[in-house]
Amino acid sequence: MRADVVVTKVKQYNRHSTADIATVFDVMTQQVKQAELEKLAVDRLKIQVNGLLVKMGTLRLRTFFHKGIQCDVCGLSATHFALERDAFADPEMSHHLNLWGVKEGEEVLFTHDHLKSRACGGSDNLSNSRTCCSECNHHKSLMETKLKGLLKQDKHFVVTKEWIQQNYEGVSEIELNKVYQAFCQ
Ligand SMILES: [Zn+2]
Repeated sequence: MRADVVVTKVKQYNRHSTADIATVFDVMTQQVKQAELEKLAVDRLKIQVNGLLVKMGTLRLRTFFHKGIQCDVCGLSATHFALERDAFADPEMSHHLNLWGVKEGEEVLFTHDHLKSRACGGSDNLSNSRTCCSECNHHKSLMETKLKGLLKQDKHFVVTKEWIQQNYEGVSEIELNKVYQAFCQ
């Protein structure tokens, strides 16, 4: 199955094919069950999608699987997976699954966001992860980069709601509270 209905942003990636989200999640569910029976580590698992073997145990994919396919910030829903590899990667490199949604006729890449950023001491695990579209993730990243710089200068810098509001473009009240909680826990 190939995406042909929407404008496909594949400059950054070379696309092999697209895959249905529910189908990929079904295969992941079966693999996890099997792994539990055989006591295998989930992060090592691979699944067969459109004839290619891809990793399914990455934190990014596990976040989509467990936390859902909706951007936690703007509510955009993902519509399909695509088997892709970085356009500038070694051609020998294997493909990976990217999750995509569509906004105003254009594809938007989905990513996993650390609720509390790694730079500010957040952990790299499922409980600190959520699904986020790349547009919302970008706005949050700009704020985090500023914060990281400030913390470098003064590790006692205290993050306030006002500071987040001033430095996080377009932040909603709900998102402000989530981010504030994450940074001040
Ligand atoms: Zn979003």
